[in-house]
Amino acid sequence: MANPDEEQPQTQQHTEDYLFKIVLIGDSAVGKSNLLARFARDEFHANSKSTIGVEFQTQKMEINRKEVKAQIWDTAGQERFRAVTSAYYRGAVGALLVYDISRRLTFDSVGRWLNELHTHSDMNVVTILVGNKSDLKEDREVTTAEGKALAEAQGLFFIETSALDSSNVNAAFQTVVKEIYHILSRKVM
Ligand code: GDP
Repeated sequence: MANPDEEQPQTQQHTEDYLFKIVLIGDSAVGKSNLLARFARDEFHANSKSTIGVEFQTQKMEINRKEVKAQIWDTAGQERFRAVTSAYYRGAVGALLVYDISRRLTFDSVGRWLNELHTHSDMNVVTILVGNKSDLKEDREVTTAEGKALAEAQGLFFIETSALDSSNVNAAFQTVVKEIYHILSRKVM
């Protein structure tokens, strides 16, 4: 159990609260819902979508001793009908643009998702390109170098993750939230 004497000083420094809206985008079945399930609840779902179609999940994080809340939105399958609405993007300050390293078609769609993101939201949305399913080594169709190069060309952060084995999942979300926090604190100061 946590020692309350150790916890207290930190809690007292939580004088400000931040709430950041972050959206998950990318083709169907790249693993968006599972990345969120892994990050927020440390769960993984092999098949069923119906059990996890959450709209958004609020996750508390601590950055520089400040409590930051990330409100992470999942398309919950909207993209299958090409109907990700402008309301979905409204107010977003961060985005995880996900593709599946074992399906090149999902990587080819990245440009379209970026266009859509920039049409519906601020150009300055902090965005990380996420190559998910890094555990599928045998089935890899997109190299790490290709992912990195595209991210660099588009001015995005880049990471490869696996919602299945948890690799880099926290880091993907933390990279975005930390950068938003830093941009915001520079503006405030
Ligand atoms: P979404 O449509 O983008 O939200 O994708 P889902 O999260 O529903 O995942 C689609 C399918 O890919 C499901 O069968 C998941 O179990 C599987 N999946 C998701 N992430 C991973 C991963 O990191 N590795 C592997 N091997 N499968 C994954």
